[in-house]
Amino acid sequence: MIRFLDLSQAYDDLRPEIDAAIARVSASGWYILGPEVDRFEQAFAAYTESREAIGCATGLDALILVLMAMDIGPGDEVLVPAHTFVATWLAVSRVGARPVPVDVDPDTLNMTATGLVEKITRATKVIIPVHLYGIPVDLAPIMEIARQHGLRVVEDAAQAHGARWDGRRVGAQADAACWSFYPAKNLGAMGDGGAVTTNDTALAERIRLLGNYGAVRKYENLEIGMNSRLDPLQAAILAVKLDKLDTWNTHRVRVAQIYLDGLTDTDLTLPHIPAKADPVWHLFVVRTDRREALLSALSDAGIQTQIHYPIAPFDQPCYADLNLSGEDFPVATGAAKQVLSLPIGPHMPLDDAHRVVDTLQRLTRDGQRVGRGA
Ligand SMILES: *Cc1c(COP(=O)(O)O)cnc(C)c1O
Repeated sequence: MIRFLDLSQAYDDLRPEIDAAIARVSASGWYILGPEVDRFEQAFAAYTESREAIGCATGLDALILVLMAMDIGPGDEVLVPAHTFVATWLAVSRVGARPVPVDVDPDTLNMTATGLVEKITRATKVIIPVHLYGIPVDLAPIMEIARQHGLRVVEDAAQAHGARWDGRRVGAQADAACWSFYPAKNLGAMGDGGAVTTNDTALAERIRLLGNYGAVRKYENLEIGMNSRLDPLQAAILAVKLDKLDTWNTHRVRVAQIYLDGLTDTDLTLPHIPAKADPVWHLFVVRTDRREALLSALSDAGIQTQIHYPIAPFDQPCYADLNLSGEDFPVATGAAKQVLSLPIGPHMPLDDAHRVVDTLQRLTRDGQRVGRGA
């Protein structure tokens, strides 16, 4: 059986260091904010090549806090990719603004500058590109449009810890970047966690305030804030894992390369990697017209796959009142029907990747194609 992703292997890999980190926090008596969170924030800022990192409770909260700190609210519009994890949209809705979807690029399934300008209205305030699946977005053309129209750009980097564009890490090129440390992400905690990175120190200060009840100091509340803080236990665990992140990402690249080399002759649509992109392969997503048949044939062969994501945000029941039609987002609509995520992870044996390739070659060979009749 080839698991989609086995999260306990990260713990097995680093057990003595993680156990020591947990014991240290437990013995310290310091369970909210404090030195462990400060230390991880500094390490993560350095890793992402940004001036500031602010921990918070989840990736969704990171997005919400940034939008709050940018004073986004009712009456405002925020441009989001039509194809993404729904949390990108939820953050916009949570602050009372309206998510305005932009269809994604048919090659990368990411947001590009194409189609952005015609979505901009007088209510538009922010653009949120998502480095989906760990493949970085080309931010420069998006930033240029944003500057021309007085908009801010927030990277949703929840799937792209360590990815680079043109040699530079994602997370420091726009006005702010939002991160999730949900366990299955490339840098994952043993519970929930999130962060914002930014080079804007004033914005960073406001996010800190908003995530801690809006208080400048204890019991003096300047703003109507939230309680969304990174847990010191998770911060200590994340600091241990951060040291391993590049090694783990390199392993993901190896698995991805086996897939890319081994599946070129099949009729699967493989991920497209722009020349300047160094993806970190949070997910390895192929596209196929007979996804359900392939998924079940792979499952029969003992290979777990997943779908990211089966229902586009504009088709979600919670967004029915936006009255969006999938016809206006043909790429995203097609992706929701076709995408299939193959097993990948920092501890996946390379032999397993070869087995996935062999199985897919067999299942997609002419004459024996699963899901195409005889
Ligand atoms: C995981 C994820 C989020 C939300 O992060 P949580 O920590 O689960 O709240 C937001 N955006 C994208 C693209 C994600 O993959």
